[in-house]
Amino acid sequence: MALGSLTVASRNVILPGYDQPQAATITVDVETGKIIDIQHEYLPVNPSGREDTKVRRIDAGDYFILPGLVDAHVHLNEPGRTDWEGFWTGTRAAVSGGITTVVDMPLNSIPPTTTVENLSLKRRTASGQCWTDVAFWGGVIPGNQPDLKPLVAAGVKGFKCFLIESGVEEFPCVSEDDLHGHMKELKDEPTVLLFHAELETPSSTSDLSHDSPDPTVYETFLNSRPEDMEVNAIKLITRLQEEYKSLRCHIVHLSASSALPIIQAARRRGLKLTVETCFHYLCLSSSNLLNCRPEFKCCPPIRDRSNRDSLWKALIDGDIDFVVSDHSPCVTELKKLDEGDIMAAWGGINSLGLGLSLLWTEGKTRNVGITQIISWLSEKTAEHAGLSASKGQLKVGLDGDLVIWDPNAEFKARQVSKELLHFKNKLSAYEGMTLRGVVQKTFLRGQLVYDQARNGFDELDPLGKLL
Ligand SMILES: [Zn+2]
Repeated sequence: MALGSLTVASRNVILPGYDQPQAATITVDVETGKIIDIQHEYLPVNPSGREDTKVRRIDAGDYFILPGLVDAHVHLNEPGRTDWEGFWTGTRAAVSGGITTVVDMPLNSIPPTTTVENLSLKRRTASGQCWTDVAFWGGVIPGNQPDLKPLVAAGVKGFKCFLIESGVEEFPCVSEDDLHGHMKELKDEPTVLLFHAELETPSSTSDLSHDSPDPTVYETFLNSRPEDMEVNAIKLITRLQEEYKSLRCHIVHLSASSALPIIQAARRRGLKLTVETCFHYLCLSSSNLLNCRPEFKCCPPIRDRSNRDSLWKALIDGDIDFVVSDHSPCVTELKKLDEGDIMAAWGGINSLGLGLSLLWTEGKTRNVGITQIISWLSEKTAEHAGLSASKGQLKVGLDGDLVIWDPNAEFKARQVSKELLHFKNKLSAYEGMTLRGVVQKTFLRGQLVYDQARNGFDELDPLGKLL
């Protein structure tokens, strides 16, 4: 153990197989980065005093110890749109919220991750800049079927495609015809196909033909992307899946609860279909969104309160598998804040680093406990991205990614303000909201990468690896 070890003890540790936090003491070998021992009791340890010691001990007391979170849907946009976000700022924001692994989306960077060459460029750019571990999704666009198997071999965790305009021209959407080619190519590979599930149909666009609706009114935007667009997309996906049953398909950022019966039916038929939703669909609703505020624009849109309640129910019932951020920022000009033009604004919500507090705060009002939340944010997302062998749980043999977290929800409120946002463009739909639960320290493979007591990052290094 040349780099020594880290031992952390707490009365509240989130361990696999328990539905309540447990007393435990965890030791990580920093050399290998792996958890080597878990004692199922709280063994208060004397803090190591000397700075040069190779044996670091932390008594977390009543603070919670969580497995490092895995955010499986993040747009880091580098290279190419680094003024929107980047590996450095994005992963700092992540680690400040207890995330130790992010999986980067293939689009909004230029070039997109649609060839092995582009993936290599992305990896070279990311190298040395990451505060969390970073894995990559590949992209499916018209014509790149020959690139898919090489991308799997090069390590992408799966592929994302769009059934509707993506918003950037270098990442075009695919048609049903295209998809047959891609799915044939992928069906025997150890991978997953992710769908942005909105599909335009004549009926879904007819709403737009009303006499020029006001683009600053949220309702105008909401009407332009009705639930049917998600429903139709998911019908198409499940129909295609019947032909390529071995390929797992995944719905990213589900918003429309009316699509849930189709998903449930597909799963009952044995289709390998998984589903995620996002913090914003669970914590915001259209009834309290203001007009002229494009910071709440995302696609698919945030819908009404009863839709939000249905998403929560589906999550609790297991019909939705997990929750991700879909952190998708842009430069402030593109958010059209001055004009308040929701229709013209870039669609995407910044939230990297706030997710745990968002779900904890909202979950409190819905009687959802911390072990359930952590399973949605860590175990299930790690499994989705094929990372379960090293990430997602506090278990001997897995990476020593752990978070010391102060949940003192009932007493300690935290004001979301620009100062505590670590991502690049400090614009958030959540600004001003009172959230609960604060990350004290984050460890990546046994090494400290975020410390509230040191302004976050003072004297620390970006130790993230590319997975
Ligand atoms: Zn996205």
